[in-house]
Amino acid sequence: MNNQIIYLDNNATTQVAPEVFEAMKPYFCEKFGNPSSIHRFGGSVAADIENARRQVASLLGATYRDSDNCATEIIFTSCGTESDNAAINAALHALPERKKIVTTAVEHPAVLHYCEELTRQGFTVEKIGVDNCGRLDMQALKKAVDSNTAIVSAMWGNNETGTIFPVKEIAAVAHAAGAYFHTDAVQAAGKVKIDVVDTAVDFLSISGHKLHAPKGVGALYVRRGIIFDPLICGGHQERGRRGGTENVASIIGLGKACEISAANLDEEYAYLKNLRDNFEQKLLASIPRIRINGDLENRLPGTSSVSFECIEGESILMLLDVFGICASSGSACTTGSLEPSHVLRAMGIPYSAAHGTIRFSLSRCNTAEELDFTAGKLPAIIARLREISPYWEEK
Ligand code: PLP
Repeated sequence: MNNQIIYLDNNATTQVAPEVFEAMKPYFCEKFGNPSSIHRFGGSVAADIENARRQVASLLGATYRDSDNCATEIIFTSCGTESDNAAINAALHALPERKKIVTTAVEHPAVLHYCEELTRQGFTVEKIGVDNCGRLDMQALKKAVDSNTAIVSAMWGNNETGTIFPVKEIAAVAHAAGAYFHTDAVQAAGKVKIDVVDTAVDFLSISGHKLHAPKGVGALYVRRGIIFDPLICGGHQERGRRGGTENVASIIGLGKACEISAANLDEEYAYLKNLRDNFEQKLLASIPRIRINGDLENRLPGTSSVSFECIEGESILMLLDVFGICASSGSACTTGSLEPSHVLRAMGIPYSAAHGTIRFSLSRCNTAEELDFTAGKLPAIIARLREISPYWEEK
């Protein structure tokens, strides 16, 4: 197994599924028409995009009937980040008299950094905290959301710990104050059941590369009836809600990936949860002073955030890399920074544990053998690093 890559970093990005790649291929050299063209050559591509839109809508439980074309609730974008930005931007335009955004302390930078920019533009941003399991402080949320709040943005599943937020309850709090509700479901889509009607979300973001479609494509669900001002203005693509010629092949790929995920959701959930739980049990049984982060009762199935006390996460990653094992410390987007991630800090994980935190994130491509191999290598890696750690003392 030594020469192989064991890829346990699927929350950073996933392998494009072979069926997705196959579905995309014709759109490069054969069906390369512009979907906005009047001729049939382009028109047939437009029809294929509509099919992809239905596939995405279907994964999210968005209702559509051909007669009134509810599938227009889905807007294709360039990535999860754009979807997040576009949702918040649209809510602020739809409720111009309201100047406040309520979000959480553990959102992805795609939301948090955009909110920082909005504070520079004069908006107020309130970030709701979490407990040490990453669960949202619902009392604080209820207090924060008021008649000045345009939008509440809270993620469906956390990218670092996998903790799932009670989106239906959060949506109800937002709506009671007349605010919109957006959820970043970039990590949740394809892993847990999503039903935009039941949860009553107004906006929901997904990203292709987290569910075995390519990078550079995403989608935003916008509940029917919401006036949507585009973030990217230009041509009339996406019914005037997102300018720019469509990334056709990737959109087709995203549709196919959603179709595959929808068809295998329950089976894949059970598979990933079982792989992850067995892996964690092995680590807990063989390595002292570790903790599993997140809401253990309510987590995305393939995410495992493990804190190994008194050592540096980066050193663990380097020694795992010797065996071809790929994981990440904190969030992929904060790799390179030695500060514990904002998520672990918001959870109040002690510094000595937060520093030695590794995120293992699985996908359908992983096997039990790969996880056993990884669990088998970790005890010696951790022991070796603790031996040279100035902070480690045997208790
Ligand atoms: N939201 C979450 C929860 C994520 O994990 C990520 C990517 O890591 C994003 C948003 C950004 O998605 P994209 O890379 O498609 O912009």
